[in-house]
Amino acid sequence: MDCIFCKIIEGSIPSTKVYETETVLAFKDIQPAAPVHTLIIPKKHIPTMNDVTAEDGPVIAELFEAAREIAKQEGIDEAGYRLINNVNSDGGQVVYHLHIHLLGGEKLGALLP
Ligand code: 5GP
Ligand code: ZN
Repeated sequence: MDCIFCKIIEGSIPSTKVYETETVLAFKDIQPAAPVHTLIIPKKHIPTMNDVTAEDGPVIAELFEAAREIAKQEGIDEAGYRLINNVNSDGGQVVYHLHIHLLGGEKLGALLP
């Protein structure tokens, strides 16, 4: 399948992994927008949040579990961090394999005016 993140999961594209379970992988974003910027993805290819079904419930929960663990690992859980999921074109999604951005390590700017 022509999906960058599926290739990262199978190992044919290298990445800096920071967290991995049977169902979830997290790795550093190649173009970090903050001192900590990791991408958390399900190993199952789900294109966007619009494609999530009820049976994906457990894996969605695991993405958030991963976020908590990574924030702790990076030592930013107390200071705080931001989770972002871009959906489709207007949302700014570029890679069509579901992912949550975990951003932190500095005081982030306001997202809304
Ligand atoms: P989106 O805009 O789809 O929400 O975010 C896609 C993210 O994937 C971007 O922040 C981009 O920097 C990151 N990205 C794109 N290609 C690669 C890659 O090959 N490796 C890694 N580690 N990150 C990537
Ligand atoms: Zn994929």
